[in-house]
Amino acid sequence: MEIGPYSFEEFLKVVESFHGHQSPGVILGGFMVSYALEQLPRGILIDAVSETPACLPDAIQLLTPCTLGNGWLKVINLGRFALSLYEKYEGKGVRVFIDPAKLDGRPQIRNWLFKLIPKSEQDRDLLIAEIRQAGRSILGMRPVRLKREHLGKTRRGAISNCGMCGEPYPERDGLVCRACQGQSPYV
Ligand code: ZN
Repeated sequence: MEIGPYSFEEFLKVVESFHGHQSPGVILGGFMVSYALEQLPRGILIDAVSETPACLPDAIQLLTPCTLGNGWLKVINLGRFALSLYEKYEGKGVRVFIDPAKLDGRPQIRNWLFKLIPKSEQDRDLLIAEIRQAGRSILGMRPVRLKREHLGKTRRGAISNCGMCGEPYPERDGLVCRACQGQSPYV
C-alpha cells in the first residue's frame, strides 16, 4: 500500500525526518490523507482541517500543499483523530476518521488509540506493522461540507504598535496586544 507518492518504507523515513521519530499517529495519518485525497477531483484547490493538534497536522503537511503557515490547514481541536480535505471555495469534501467498529483483531492499534497501556510498554515496531497491515481498513469516510464561516481568508484587519511592548499587533485584539493582556507564555 502506497502513501501518496511514497512507498510505505519511504514514508517512514519522511516522517522520521520531519516529525523527529516514526510516529504511529503520523503514519496512520498518511493513510488517512491519501484516502481522502483520492476522493477529491484532481486539479482543485484544497484546504484541510485537522480535528486534533497531534500528529495529523504533520501528515497533512507532508502529503498536501496545505500547511499551518500558508493558512490552508486549520487545526480545529475537537479532540477526535480525524481530518477533512475539501475544495477551498465551496467547502465540499470528505472527512476521514478511525472507525472503532473496525478495530477488532487490531490489538496494538486499540491499545495505542485508547491509551490502554503506557507508551513505554507499547511495542512500537509491532504497532507500526499493524498500522501497515490495517491500512485503510480501519478508517471511515463520509462527505462533508464546511460552514461558510470556515471558508476563505481570515482577515486580521488594521495593525498598529502595541502601547505596552511596542510591537505590531492586530487592533481588533484590544487596546494592547494579546501578550500584554496576559496571554504571554513566558516567565
Ligand atoms: Zn504588547
